[in-house]
Order: sequence, then structure tokens, then C-alpha cells
Amino acid sequence: MDAREQLRRYLEQRRELGERELVLDQLSVEDALRIVGGARPEARTERPAESRPPEAPADITTAEESSPNDWRETLRAAGASPRQSDVKPTRSEGIPASTPEVGGQLAPTGIVVGASSRELFGAGGPSLESLDSVAKAIATCTRCPLYATAKNPVPGEGNPNADFMLVGEAPGATEDETGRPFVGQAGQLLEKILAAIKFSREDVFIVNVLKHRPPGNRNPRPEEVSACSPYLVRQIELIRPKVLVALGTFAAQTLLETKLSIGKLRGQIHRYYGVPLIVTYHPAALLRNPSWKRPTWEDVQLARRILDRAVSGA
Ligand code: URA
Repeated sequence: MDAREQLRRYLEQRRELGERELVLDQLSVEDALRIVGGARPEARTERPAESRPPEAPADITTAEESSPNDWRETLRAAGASPRQSDVKPTRSEGIPASTPEVGGQLAPTGIVVGASSRELFGAGGPSLESLDSVAKAIATCTRCPLYATAKNPVPGEGNPNADFMLVGEAPGATEDETGRPFVGQAGQLLEKILAAIKFSREDVFIVNVLKHRPPGNRNPRPEEVSACSPYLVRQIELIRPKVLVALGTFAAQTLLETKLSIGKLRGQIHRYYGVPLIVTYHPAALLRNPSWKRPTWEDVQLARRILDRAVSGA
């Protein structure tokens, strides 16, 4: 696909997602589409996100890489504004300086779980005063039968002061062997996803809903989730991230206490005890269905913008 076509598709997708201004060049999406000859919005038929044609980059990072065929070069060659490196960044990454965003919404509000007081356990909750004590409690936990079949507990890991926290489903075989979350194939892809938003895994905190592996990677059972949830809740409470990302249907439905599909939950800013929560596809699902890489990239960009905003106090 040539760069012009790539750019046209990208812009049309941005428009579909409701974005009016380009991060890179401070053009409106409509202006940029006019440059590359995109269809008018009224000529387009709206389709649900999950039925859009595959547009994902081969690798999650390729959307941001520059190449001789880079669509950004095409846009610039067509007369559109300076290189990003020439523009003095006046705001946090990903938010154009001209966007009238103070107090504005980056995405629609979604499901709200819990009060914003963040007293997740409330009075009488377990007295797990540190992440280490949570991990120790998990290591000796017998609240559900999974401890008996798992090789190791996988409490989660990362920066205890992380602003960005990701929640997966349950440990797989490699995680069970090592006692570390997301270190198998899905974990390698997760690292690329994080790199696309300028994070390493040491910057963030990564946990799962379940802390022990279900045998054969079967789906977690409701009673296992109920038994394990207090640890997740306490971890969120101790870390107090500024943004939570639910990786996959299971984490999203568990945290948001809903049965809505991931297609319905994406693209909104939910709240989990006051913490903004973004839902995206599980990295393992991306390995099976690469066309979900593009929407995942969009989701993590949104999460990053929310964080940047929170940090800058905008
Ligand atoms: N999938 C998950 O949900 N968590 C892991 O830690 C690994 C794979």
C-alpha cells in the first residue's frame, strides 16, 4: 500500500473515532483528508469498530516508525506544516498545543465502578500494608483450589509508584514457571505495545486478575475471581495509578462488573474507584488476530494521553 493510501485510511479512521485535529501537524482531519483525496464523511457507512477492515501495522510499533514511504512525509510533501521535531512541544506528548482540551473529554465517559474516594476495601478490609505483604499473602493463599495445581504464584510486578497499571487475565505456562506476569509470547507483544507509548515494563505495574494459573489455561471461574479479587483491589489501592488498562475481555468485564463485549467497552473512559480505566484487546488475542493491533494502538495512545494530562494537571 502506498503512503498516500495509508494516510487516507488512517485519517478516515481518525475521523471515524471522532478526532478532529491531528497530533502531528495541527491540521484538521478534514483538511488533511482533502489533501490526500479522502471520501467525504457523509459518503461513508458507519460500521462497528470490530468489523472494520484490517488496517493494523505488521508490528504494533510500525505505526510510529518513519520510513521513506512514511505517510507523514507524504503529508509534509503535500505542503502540510513543519516536522514535529521543529515544533516546540508545549504540552505533554500526544496532545496538540492548539487543542482546546482543558477540562475537555478525550473520549466518552463509560462505566463507573465504585466511589472516587478510593477506599476500595473500606473498614474491616485485609491489613495488607504494602505490595510485598500482598505478594506474601498471595504466596500462601488457599482461598481457591488453583494454588494446588500452580507451580508458582504470580502476584504481579513493576514500579510500585507507577502511574500506569495494566491488568491481564491469569498467568499462562511461562508465567507459572517464572512467577512473573506477561513474560511469554503475549508478554513480548505487550512490551512492544508499551514501547509504542514510551514505556518500558519497569515503568509500569503489571498484574493479573488471577494470581495462580488455571490448569491448561482454562478460563477463570467466577469463584476463583471472587476469591482472588481482594488482592487485585488492594494492589490498585496501594499503587494508586493515574490510569488503569484492562487487557482483554476478562479483565475488563471483571473490573467493570459487566458482561458487555470488548467492542462496546473500548473507546470510553471508564472509572474504577475514581481511576480512569481504558479497555483494550489482550495481547494474546492480537497474536491470533493482527487486525486488532491498530485499535489496540489507538487505545493505548488514549490511555497515555489521559496520563499525560493527569500528570500535567490539565
Ligand atoms: N496472559 C495473561 O492474561 N496474563 C499473563 O500474565 C500472561 C498471559
